[in-house]
Amino acid sequence: MIIAAIEAGGTKFIVGLVRIEGAGDVAPALLARASIPTTNPAETLKAAGDFLESASTGHGGFGALGIGSFGPVDLRPSSPGWGHVTTTPKPGWSGADVAGYFHARFGIPVSFDTDVNAAAYGEYRWGGAKGIQDFIYITVGTGVGGGVFSGGKLVHGLSHPELGHIRIHRDSDDRFEGCCPYHGDCLEGLAAGPAISTRWKMQAQDLAPDHVAWELEAGYLAKAVATFCLVVSPQLVLLGGGVGMREGLAERVSILVGKELAGYVPALADPAFLSSFVRRPALGADAGLLGSAALTLV
Ligand code: ZN
Repeated sequence: MIIAAIEAGGTKFIVGLVRIEGAGDVAPALLARASIPTTNPAETLKAAGDFLESASTGHGGFGALGIGSFGPVDLRPSSPGWGHVTTTPKPGWSGADVAGYFHARFGIPVSFDTDVNAAAYGEYRWGGAKGIQDFIYITVGTGVGGGVFSGGKLVHGLSHPELGHIRIHRDSDDRFEGCCPYHGDCLEGLAAGPAISTRWKMQAQDLAPDHVAWELEAGYLAKAVATFCLVVSPQLVLLGGGVGMREGLAERVSILVGKELAGYVPALADPAFLSSFVRRPALGADAGLLGSAALTLV
């Protein structure tokens, strides 16, 4: 079965075709892939559609499309706005009908969810959370996003979880006021890439492994993860994104989660369990694209 997939990001759309064998129990083969700059909706959606059309000619067409999108997005199945981007600050994209464009153009089933939910579902099908019924996926990059997988399903609810915007205790020595346009010093405002580069006057990737920035970053992420543990009781936390996948960060966060909870959750007081409780995702650079394809199997 040939499936089309789009990882719709605020900076670029990664578009691809994959081949899924049988019931989709093994990771699919990537047949074609392109990166398209995200400009305005009309231009970007058309370019993504044009690529899928030309890439599919040699493969006999595709039967479904999965889209993992930047957001916020409307995921209420009965809403006329389903499949649209909603209140994004990205110019021109508020109200853009992403899923509808492809459904109208190709006349195939379109599965649509957030980019982090797509990545989480991909990890559940084929990656680091395979077979685990309760986990959370957090991505730390230009923003902080998170998907919750509970009882074998992605949590949606009223819209979708926004793990990056919870409030956490600010470190008493941290004078940075936070940079979330909505909340100032929420988790994203204190711990996303732009918060790090503004606070330390240096890009996260240029900060040395022993820079004090990483202790503060691990501390903020651990406070957030400890809260998520108390609310949804995950068996595993995957920490992805350009900042989140920094070498050694997941291990550091794991240890600090144990300290935050101070023995209150017995499993999270066990050093052996904690050593692999927060992990990096397994699907690597194509996690978003493979996850978007996986949405067609939900
Ligand atoms: Zn916020």
